[in-house]
Amino acid sequence: MTAALMQTQNLRAFYGNTRVLHGIDFVLQPGGITTILGANGAGKTTALRAISGMVRTEGAIRFEGARIDGRKTEDVARRGIAHVPNGRGTIMQLTVHENLKLGAYTRSDKRGVAQDFELVFGYFPRLKERQGQQAGTLSGGEQQMLAISRALMMRPKLLLLDEPSFGLAPLVVQEIFSIMRSINKQQGVSMLLVEQNASLALDLADHAYLLETGNVVVSGTSRDIQQNPSVRRSYLGY
Ligand code: ATP
Repeated sequence: MTAALMQTQNLRAFYGNTRVLHGIDFVLQPGGITTILGANGAGKTTALRAISGMVRTEGAIRFEGARIDGRKTEDVARRGIAHVPNGRGTIMQLTVHENLKLGAYTRSDKRGVAQDFELVFGYFPRLKERQGQQAGTLSGGEQQMLAISRALMMRPKLLLLDEPSFGLAPLVVQEIFSIMRSINKQQGVSMLLVEQNASLALDLADHAYLLETGNVVVSGTSRDIQQNPSVRRSYLGY
């Protein structure tokens, strides 16, 4: 068994004095895709925000063996964790090119950055055509592509993705998920994916955690979770 890429132990997260995650143990393997499933308000977004240092936490978060809990968001990013937030986090007034350039702000290797522009344009050719266009005028699907691409410009080891399917037409979602799969396989970027659409997420991911009101209630391989009767009833609808 290889060493975990990321691991949380007894992770708790708070908004003010209110605790919304109650002691979560996640293990992410290098090169894997893990999904966090759960109903509205279960704590999925908070789990990603906890890893990124955006909410107050207790418990341990280890990335490549080193503690990252309590670190600033920027430090977490510099270590190789890129966060694609729900709502996408692109800067609407800036062009596609400017947004991508911002994604690489932590890097000083100009040649590598230039190569990575070509890399993301290879995955998302539509962004290449629209390099000079203001991000705010892109379609929803193109904005999601830009958000993922901007995160990739950091050359991350782990991508945190918060509901990339949100508000998009099924065909666009299929296209984006298929590209995410290619990026994972070809670039070895690990992913932690939050999704309401359980069926879609389980098709992409190799492992899954089901959250209910801030606790993990089921975890395992995606295949096992797909066959779990209560998950099928409540989240897969068959
Ligand atoms: P959804 O799928 O609806 O986005 P979620 O599983 O991502 O839900 P979270 O957004 O993590 O859930 O919310 C978990 C709990 O924390 C909820 O009870 C929510 O009301 C609460 N919460 C989220 N953000 C804040 C905040 N900024 N201040 C106070 N409470 C918050």
